[in-house]
Amino acid sequence: NAPLAELDPEIAAVLEGELARQRDTLEMIASENFVPRAVLQAQGSVLTNKYAEGYPGRRYYGGCEQVDIAENLAIARAKDLFGADHVNVQPHSGAQANAAVLHALINAGDKILGLELAHGGHLTHGMKINFSGKLYDVAAYGVDPETHRIEMDEVRKKALEHRPDVIIAGWSAYPRQLDFAAFREVADEVGAKLWVDMAHFAGLVAAGLHPSPVPHADVVSSTVHKTIGGPRSGFILSKEEYAKKIDSAVFPGQQGGPLMHVIAAKAVAFKVAATDGFKDRQERTVRGAKIIAERLSQPDVAGAGVSVLTGGTDVHLVLVDLRNSALDGQQAEDLLHDAGITVNRNAVPFDPRPPRVTSGLRIGTPALATRGFGDAEFTEVADIIATALRDGASADVEGLSARVAKLTADFPLYPGLAQ
Ligand code: PLP
Repeated sequence: NAPLAELDPEIAAVLEGELARQRDTLEMIASENFVPRAVLQAQGSVLTNKYAEGYPGRRYYGGCEQVDIAENLAIARAKDLFGADHVNVQPHSGAQANAAVLHALINAGDKILGLELAHGGHLTHGMKINFSGKLYDVAAYGVDPETHRIEMDEVRKKALEHRPDVIIAGWSAYPRQLDFAAFREVADEVGAKLWVDMAHFAGLVAAGLHPSPVPHADVVSSTVHKTIGGPRSGFILSKEEYAKKIDSAVFPGQQGGPLMHVIAAKAVAFKVAATDGFKDRQERTVRGAKIIAERLSQPDVAGAGVSVLTGGTDVHLVLVDLRNSALDGQQAEDLLHDAGITVNRNAVPFDPRPPRVTSGLRIGTPALATRGFGDAEFTEVADIIATALRDGASADVEGLSARVAKLTADFPLYPGLAQ
């Protein structure tokens, strides 16, 4: 029972190094967040020792009385939070939740219609070498070449052309809200089921800042670790009529034993998500993204060929368009990294550069909002990013790093925590 630092100093050093990295940089990857310490505690607990195949009250292993309580709490809290008929909290990840959704709704060879990967869709929505592209017959809708928005006329046209069995609404990189009622209409018109993947914007839905897909979709899947800010994992909401199919698609369809330590941590995250503090954090998240979009749309930055896709944002992220900039996505990501800001390069729709380089950046505000940032701090971050992207190769990286260091010092992360 030696402590980690004694038993495995190399891994202990990784944990320490990562805590320092998270503390000393500005985390702006749109899919990341900082979990509360209570989530770290639940996830790093003895529940990791327990096998619990099955569902609460119907397990294939003995000794499940404590983990049943945890899973029932996670289910009840998610139901309340999203107003869903049925919840499955066992998916290990977002991708596994999505595999279970398709497994439950259709058969191999059936047709799915989702957002084009290169336009902001996700791997599990039909990418060629993902299970979704291999098992199902895939068609895709794209964003409008002018507005860069998902236009429902285009979705309807593609649906009428391809007659899919499932229509997927959801994205990994898109800065606007979706019209779920319009998706429902199109699905009904062609006799398709509607699946919404709200992995990115679930926290905004929980806070009432984004329309809820739950009344419109047959099934809704999500991750817990993006805007919600819980443990890395997934969950599925559905109408009662799909409850049994979803449960058996998750277990035994896709998974064996559930990760009970993670499920307990999900319960904690859902409890947090029902608080006023959570709502305030989501509001700061969206306002922060709007502040960044606005600053990156100013003439000095536009003059350097930098712009923001769709001209702004309604959610927790901004997509920067570098197609007319001297910087490509890789160079811009590296430049911001050198200044202490972590973002990811991202292909923009109709990107002329190769996928490993790209002409875009995806910049998200959830982690910094969790750190406590408000309008003043996001204004400062926006100016640091704008200055770096405007000045490119001649940017004053040292000066920008000093501004980043002031922000990280003013908003300490996990104060008192030692790994
Ligand atoms: N769905 C969407 C829309 C996502 O953006 C992601 C993550 O990037 C996932 C699903 C997959 O989640 P995970 O990485 O937990 O498998």
